[in-house]
Amino acid sequence: MKKISISKALADDIVAASRILAQQGVLDAYGHVSARSDREPSRFVMSRSLAPALVTRKDLMELDADSEPLPGDKRKGFLERYIHGEIYRARPEVMAVVHSHSPSVIPFGVTRTKLRPIYHMGSFLWSGAPVFEIRETRPDNDLLIRDRPLGKALAGRLGKCNCVLMRGHGMTVIGDSVPEAVFRSIYTEMNARLQLQATQLEGPIEFLSDEEGRRSSASNRGTLERPWELWKKDGLRRR
Ligand SMILES: [Zn+2]
Repeated sequence: MKKISISKALADDIVAASRILAQQGVLDAYGHVSARSDREPSRFVMSRSLAPALVTRKDLMELDADSEPLPGDKRKGFLERYIHGEIYRARPEVMAVVHSHSPSVIPFGVTRTKLRPIYHMGSFLWSGAPVFEIRETRPDNDLLIRDRPLGKALAGRLGKCNCVLMRGHGMTVIGDSVPEAVFRSIYTEMNARLQLQATQLEGPIEFLSDEEGRRSSASNRGTLERPWELWKKDGLRRR
């Protein structure tokens, strides 16, 4: 196992988050979770290229500010690790990032319908869920964020929001902790599903106002430990 600079507690959280998100259907064989190092803030830690349900502590890699492995680590990192590195660079307060191909959000990345907070668990979406159009940066592309310029463009589109949708690809969600990024990933998927259901009923849909979103997000922060404890227990049981 390569020595990594983060605390054991944070390493355990990344492992738990990978497993939780796989169980919750946010990640499948693809997608990844990272956390900013709690000891070397210019660096971040994520698994080597591996299906999230299989991640253990020994699979974690430490990456530098340019999203490259530390010298001597020859393991294969995720191709899309630049998503994480460029968001950490652009947003110093962000402590965790989840990138997924979460199925229910895909329609919102390819149509004019905006993903908006339909209920209190999705309230963090009040800050907006902009859509990243990769063609604006790279007309010839394979939809993947495979280098730093693409990561930088994605981080730019995220702006100050909590979630950015990626046209024809998936989404990336940020948090000020691993539990918060996990919470937001799960509830972005659920909010998208519920919004799609609501469009089949008589409209217009009554979304949360920005003020409700702001207040509700703050309340959810205060109760994050409860779902995290439950998810973590389930996630680590099947090791
Ligand atoms: Zn992806």
